[in-house]
Amino acid sequence: MLSQAAAMVGAPAIRNRGTVGGNIQSASPAADVVVPLLALDAKLVLASIGGKREIYLKDFHLGPGKTDRKPEELITEIRFDCLEDDRSVFYKLGQRNALAIAIVSLALQISFSSQNEVTKVAIALGSVAPTAVRASNTEDYLLGKTLTDETIRMAREMLTKDIKPISDLRASSEYRDSASQVLLARALKSVMPNSNTSCRGAV
Ligand SMILES: Cc1cc2nc3c(=O)[nH]c(=O)nc-3n(C[C@H](O)[C@H](O)[C@H](O)COP(=O)(O)OP(=O)(O)OC[C@H]3O[C@@H](n4cnc5c(N)ncnc54)[C@H](O)[C@@H]3O)c2cc1C
Repeated sequence: MLSQAAAMVGAPAIRNRGTVGGNIQSASPAADVVVPLLALDAKLVLASIGGKREIYLKDFHLGPGKTDRKPEELITEIRFDCLEDDRSVFYKLGQRNALAIAIVSLALQISFSSQNEVTKVAIALGSVAPTAVRASNTEDYLLGKTLTDETIRMAREMLTKDIKPISDLRASSEYRDSASQVLLARALKSVMPNSNTSCRGAV
């Protein structure tokens, strides 16, 4: 999901010059790389002449364009655990296939038991709240479940408790709400055990 998100930032010229640190510090609720990093429970290392400190990414973004970074600090490292048997996917819905700010984006990381029950799940969304958010209610609902059409339908309903989309020039809050549910259903279907769908995100 991280490589999928990185590949969807802007266009080649932007990706050649842009950095992950800049993507995080911009604190845009639509920043593409932030969404999978949030699903990965990433921590940032902030360094200054006074030393280093660590902060979870979820605590770093305070609002649109606002972060917990002090003026003298730089983001020098991003830390997260390696994925093992987990499946993951990133979806971004924009107005075009390139150079498009996300109307909604969603990152999913999930693992299953040998009985196909969900043993671990992390869902993060962009452009549906003042900062990128984790869908904690939906994650709690999915834990221990087998992914069926009914489970996915209930997860879609649960997702509405986790997001607070606004209306702006790109989309209405109602559209974002509905699109978030569609992306969640697509993501869950694409990672289902024995799914023929490849774990590839799409714009
Ligand atoms: C045409 C265009 C299209 C774009 N499309 C997308 C898109 O599709 N998806 C998306 O997510 N973003 C997009 N962006 C936004 C931006 O390009 C990316 O977020 C990029 O990753 C920013 O990285 P940068 O290194 O250029 O940061 P900069 O723009 O140089 O910096 C952004 C801010 O972060 C600070 N900063 C930079 N690095 C650090 C650091 N290591 N530690 C602390 N502060 C730091 C800078 O001082 C500045 O305040 C687009 C921008 C443009 C111009």
